[in-house]
Amino acid sequence: MKNLVIAVDGPAGAGKSTIAKIVAKKLNINYIDTGAMYRAITYKCLKNDIDVDNEEEVKKVAKDTDIDFRDNNIYLDGAIINDEIRTIDVSNNVSNVAKIKEVRYLMVDVQREIGKKSSVILDGRDIGSYVFPNADYKFYLVATPHERGARRHKELTEKGYEVSIEEIINDIIKRDEIDSNREFAPLVKAEDAIEVDTTGKTIEDVVESVLGKINL
Ligand code: C5P
Repeated sequence: MKNLVIAVDGPAGAGKSTIAKIVAKKLNINYIDTGAMYRAITYKCLKNDIDVDNEEEVKKVAKDTDIDFRDNNIYLDGAIINDEIRTIDVSNNVSNVAKIKEVRYLMVDVQREIGKKSSVILDGRDIGSYVFPNADYKFYLVATPHERGARRHKELTEKGYEVSIEEIINDIIKRDEIDSNREFAPLVKAEDAIEVDTTGKTIEDVVESVLGKINL
């Protein structure tokens, strides 16, 4: 049987990773958080005092980096960095790293390789529009900025980070703007993607409506 590819795109905090993780479990397929890859490069730059606006330097870092997903962990050069990539500092800088075309080429290669090897659900910004234009299913999740901010705030405070909801809403609005306006592979709803508004919906409701569209 051919590998199944499911794309889940949308703006920051729309619920993509929560939903994609559950759908992956239910369908027994792999889940790839593509945002985590751009965050990993950003984290490495910040840790090594590389200015994220210095494209040449960031490209070098991306070329010299090994990113891997295993057992629901993200590895950066062999070390697990699941929590380190979630800080507000990484969030504030990641869109500037992700707008660099060469960085995207490198990440997209990894994503396409994974899609060749196994059935997979990927969440991101350009999965249905650029990485897998022929994906079997494409979803585009949206929610109001306030709801998206409140969700991220809950997630981060539960993990022990101290951030205000205003700071998070500002971050997601700024990131959406950079992500939507970049030249190469911006955040956009693929023409054939199914839009799901998650505002006011429970996780179970959204999972149900996504699974309801998938015929295996
Ligand atoms: O999904 P998450 O919010 O963790 O993504 C972090 C950032 O990574 C996004 O704001 C965007 O700049 C970048 N990204 C991207 N393309 C993807 C996934 C994420 O540009 N496919």
